[in-house]
Amino acid sequence: MTLDLEKLNKEQRQAVVLDDKNALILAGAGSGKTRVLTYRIAYLCQKKQVSPLNILAVTFTNKAAREMRARIEALLGFSTHGMWIGTFHGIAHRLLRQHASELGFDRHFKVLDQDDQLQLIKKVLQQLNIDEKFYPPRFIQGFINGKKDEGIRSVDINKHEVDSEILKIYQAYEVRLKADNALDFADLLLYAYELLQHNEVVRSYYQRRFQYILVDEFQDTNTIQYKWLQCLKTGDNTIMAVGDDDQSIYGWRGAKVENIQHFVDDFADVETVRLEQNYRSTQTILDAANALIANNMGRMGKTLWSQAPIGEKIALYEAFNERDEAAYIVGRIQALHQESKANLKDIAILYRSNAQSRVIEEALLQQGLAYRIYGGLRFFERAEIKDALAYLRLIALRGDNLAFERIVNVPARGIGAKTVDTIRQYALDHDLSLWQSACEMIENKVLSSRAAKPLQSFMDLIDEMASMQEVMDLGQLTRYVIDQSGLLIMYQSTNSEKSKQKLDNLKELVNAAVEFIPPMEAVDSADELLVEFLSFAVLESGEMQADENTDCVQMMTLHTAKGLEFPYVFMTGLEDGLFPSSRSIEAEDRLSEERRLCYVGITRAMKQLTLSFSKVRHQYGDVNYQIKSRFLHEIPSAYIKEIRSHTANKKPLGFGVSPFEFIKQQKEDNPFKVGEFVNHPKFGIGVFLKAEGQGDDKCYHIDFKAGGGKKVLLAKMAKLSKL
Ligand code: ATP
Ligand code: MG
Repeated sequence: MTLDLEKLNKEQRQAVVLDDKNALILAGAGSGKTRVLTYRIAYLCQKKQVSPLNILAVTFTNKAAREMRARIEALLGFSTHGMWIGTFHGIAHRLLRQHASELGFDRHFKVLDQDDQLQLIKKVLQQLNIDEKFYPPRFIQGFINGKKDEGIRSVDINKHEVDSEILKIYQAYEVRLKADNALDFADLLLYAYELLQHNEVVRSYYQRRFQYILVDEFQDTNTIQYKWLQCLKTGDNTIMAVGDDDQSIYGWRGAKVENIQHFVDDFADVETVRLEQNYRSTQTILDAANALIANNMGRMGKTLWSQAPIGEKIALYEAFNERDEAAYIVGRIQALHQESKANLKDIAILYRSNAQSRVIEEALLQQGLAYRIYGGLRFFERAEIKDALAYLRLIALRGDNLAFERIVNVPARGIGAKTVDTIRQYALDHDLSLWQSACEMIENKVLSSRAAKPLQSFMDLIDEMASMQEVMDLGQLTRYVIDQSGLLIMYQSTNSEKSKQKLDNLKELVNAAVEFIPPMEAVDSADELLVEFLSFAVLESGEMQADENTDCVQMMTLHTAKGLEFPYVFMTGLEDGLFPSSRSIEAEDRLSEERRLCYVGITRAMKQLTLSFSKVRHQYGDVNYQIKSRFLHEIPSAYIKEIRSHTANKKPLGFGVSPFEFIKQQKEDNPFKVGEFVNHPKFGIGVFLKAEGQGDDKCYHIDFKAGGGKKVLLAKMAKLSKL
């Protein structure tokens, strides 16, 4: 098979056949950057007789790596076995397996995922007798990973720069990892870097081996990855980096877009190639993307044009609420599939926060449309959702052993694995549930008082939550459980994007509970309704994720969509506070990153792009009136065709309250005003958020900043006073 370079334009060809020189391909979305890398590798193998062993290609995801290999093999007609293609993490992992002994650990080392890492940090805190309240494990996790991504181990930290306890934790954590023969994710990169930096034999072997190094999505490399590339570079081999500064979207995870600028200085003799023709999208989609990104400052500047037809205008749907938004999207998908005969796999639904997926998932399931959540789990399979559901399960049935085990110490409340082991053994010996065993063991003083105390308060907590069923509806109960269990605070205590997503998911679960309508009409008690809701959650999660090869709708976050393309794209939730996210609105650099994310989203679309936003969105069971995203104002109206919701969704909002009733209630005479300070004998000072319900059922929502965050108190019992 001969490689046909005619399938490339002039600039692309120039980059593909470049003689032995370093190169920076700087170009906009859809201009064929990834295609150039693929063709270059094929060209090197076929025309330059370079052995696949001498090539190292770095992509952003494992899937992208698999695809690249398949394309190269299709171009070449032979296997590229032996060629290293993978993500930075994947390649580092491979390197470390081969050279573990040089680094002083067993080659059968374990790799800890994020959850394992968190567990280990918790153990370290226990071992050091440090209170999790003051040093939340997730915060420590973020700190350690951030340092490692910068190449900083605990020994490199200046004592005066950080809190001495944090440093102590970092040190003990590293000792513990070594002792367990374990590496965390950030370690993969850092050890691989240290290996190359300190071990000259290994370094020069790989420097000689990797004659050609090619890196895709270079704008999202972090410090350690960049240093890693510098280590591999000699006078003899070459690096080709491919990227787009306008698509740098992982700054929050340590990516440094400046690496693009530094590249030309740090790597000598760099040829910069610019690609300007976009082959992916219609003219309209491209013009809209260009207009949007023009609002960012400090760009490296690129021209992007397309020969493609103007195409359809971008549809903009103004939804009444998020269910209406989902219904519209699903309706459009059905029309595309049935009338226009589009394949479902050619349709993507993109969202900013993965909590948004739930309502859309439900609408797709209702219509029997297969879907796949790309790079993530379905809503009811997510760990934090399972945690919250475990509380509800235990409320519904104290004998639910799996639920008991899952949450007895989540969030951490000082109930150790040993205590749980003894309860389990007791349960086996006496043929009892874990709950019953725990009760008996406390009563008969089988457990030490140190173990019994937190266990007793856990059980009291569950009983108390269960008693709330009498005064709360399902939505209120779910919110109460998420609040009182401490799950909310656990995720609130760190500022990372990941925990923000988890928090959003938990809040979304409240919406699911509020909206839940049992399949049978005859559910007459709160207990039964809860059981029905739990079965619904199990059934939803039991629907297996559609297989990668089946024809199904592709759902994913905007971040996951990077590098991909789809004929039909739906971008949802374009509302200020959601997209751009509320965290980004105040800071210019974060807002710019959100705008780049929006640019990435728009430029995924080939033929047809539909944007949508919702005027009302439920969050945490509350009704929020949304403002359309500022990004929508940055796209010239000439490219947009507005579609308004015709079917005002008549379903109740909030806790079974229509929007009109909701507003009326807000105005109702309450002893406290929204935003007013109140005092509570136990929780201290808080801010009054709102009142809900009537008569005996009336509840107050108060945010006790210092005394444990937001709480819902029954009005008639709440011993509140004005401050
Ligand atoms: P992104 O910035 O989104 O990663 P990219 O610059 O990597 O995009 P590619 O994914 O390589 O762009 O290419 C976009 C689309 O254009 C692909 O479908 C690709 O096959 C097609 N394409 C690129 N160059 C050409 C060309 N010269 N002729 C025909 N099609 C092309
Ligand atoms: Mg690409």
